[in-house]
Amino acid sequence: MSPTATVYAGFGPGPTEVFLVRALVVGGGGREHAIALELHRAEAEVVAATPNANPGIERLSMATLRTDLLDTSPIVEFALQQRVQLAVIGPEAPLANGLADALRAADIPVVGPDRAAARIEWSKRFCRELLAKQGVPGNPKFQSVTNLSELKSAVANFTGPFVVKPSGLTAGKGVWVQGSDFQTAVEGEAYAERLLASPSGRDGLLIEEKLEGEEFSQMAFVTDSGIYPMPAVQDYKRALEGNQGGNTGGMGSYSQRDHMLPFLSADQRDRALDILRQSVAALRAEGLAYRGILYGGFMLTTEGPKLLEFNARFGDPEALNVLSLYEPGDFAELMLGVATGRVDPDYVRFRLRATVAKYVVPVGYGSQPQAGALIELDEPSIEDMGVRLCFGSVEAAGAGRVKLTSSRGVALVGEASAIYEAHRRVESALAFVKGSYYVRHDLGSKADVATKVDHMRKLFSPNAKPSPLPLSVAAPDAAPESHGTATQILTE
Ligand code: ATP
Repeated sequence: MSPTATVYAGFGPGPTEVFLVRALVVGGGGREHAIALELHRAEAEVVAATPNANPGIERLSMATLRTDLLDTSPIVEFALQQRVQLAVIGPEAPLANGLADALRAADIPVVGPDRAAARIEWSKRFCRELLAKQGVPGNPKFQSVTNLSELKSAVANFTGPFVVKPSGLTAGKGVWVQGSDFQTAVEGEAYAERLLASPSGRDGLLIEEKLEGEEFSQMAFVTDSGIYPMPAVQDYKRALEGNQGGNTGGMGSYSQRDHMLPFLSADQRDRALDILRQSVAALRAEGLAYRGILYGGFMLTTEGPKLLEFNARFGDPEALNVLSLYEPGDFAELMLGVATGRVDPDYVRFRLRATVAKYVVPVGYGSQPQAGALIELDEPSIEDMGVRLCFGSVEAAGAGRVKLTSSRGVALVGEASAIYEAHRRVESALAFVKGSYYVRHDLGSKADVATKVDHMRKLFSPNAKPSPLPLSVAAPDAAPESHGTATQILTE
């Protein structure tokens, strides 16, 4: 059954009802541009509520509302006035602020959980305690801290390196890891103490065991009828090449053509999916229904995948990788299915290709970003190279020009059979992006991917001889551009 939709009278004889979906996209970054693109390719009518004049979203939209995304009422009014049959909420802040609840109260199906279920993202403490209470595997050792005396005893409890984590949302910038952001336990405690006294520490902190391994993101569409996984992605959080510099919202990401990762086997991925599945069941056990995207941020350790955090929406940049692989044409049906509780598995189809997404960011991003730089983009040439362009938090500044804000600017997404080739295509396309900006050239290169595989291999077998294979290159029996599967690489 098609969901209720605007009915258009046909012209002349023939079908008199054509169902077109009118969808509201909430958000103004690269992720929301990618969502709008897929909806548009599915011939949905897109309208958007964005805080910035994102040129990519604006050109795809029939109407846009410029608004603060925390102003719920104008967004709901706009959605009603535009008669949307679907809303897809991109960022976490409006979910945490109850926008999904308000849209549902106005009878609009939403991709995105209500505030109570989105708590799995906006309260890291809730998330950890939920998993612990319901016996879901994947938590590291952790202690929740709300005052100085709890902090002292938590720090004393950790013999090994630890991580200091504000429980609430900090846009990816509040977590400090021993060995990278601070060195000694005393420094870590001092940071935690400063956090407790600041607005970021308002909801308390977590002190967690530092996990060793490689990170990956496993997202899934979640609704009443089940959990539908997307390809695994690896995101790059650190601002600078060589994974140096501060944590950011994400500088870019890659995915492998078999939907695993060079260091992640199908078996390990399935264990991560099982944590997702059990976590959704744990939410249900607490009376919390979930219709939206669930994003598991995992660390692959020698004991298997451990959960770093959940997000209640698509990752940005991870959405750029997976959505560029989505089989065109059905995204509106898929989103409607998620929002109304029943997904047809036929609509969950991703092409078998590798992707690399890189964000062009202002100079100084990650510490002291310099807003206001003008960037020139030769879009037709970028598209001619088969590279997709997604606009982030930029302002249009005339034909072929955008102004960078202090956030991520534009993303380039390349695809190929091999990760390094997708990277190379993005690098070539960067010749058509001119101006003062920073981008991580190392991300997705052969050397970079080999470092990650080697890192995992050394954790699994510290005494192993260096691999005779250049690790990001095809195994002898694989097709010429393949990396080989993770099992080919890790079981030596
Ligand atoms: P926010 O909700 O504010 O966006 P966040 O996304 O920054 O938070 P996390 O994903 O939990 O929060 O942590 C950010 C990064 O810190 C992770 O990607 C990982 O690199 C590192 N990290 C977090 N927890 C641990 C841990 N227990 N061990 C090792 N590293 C960790």
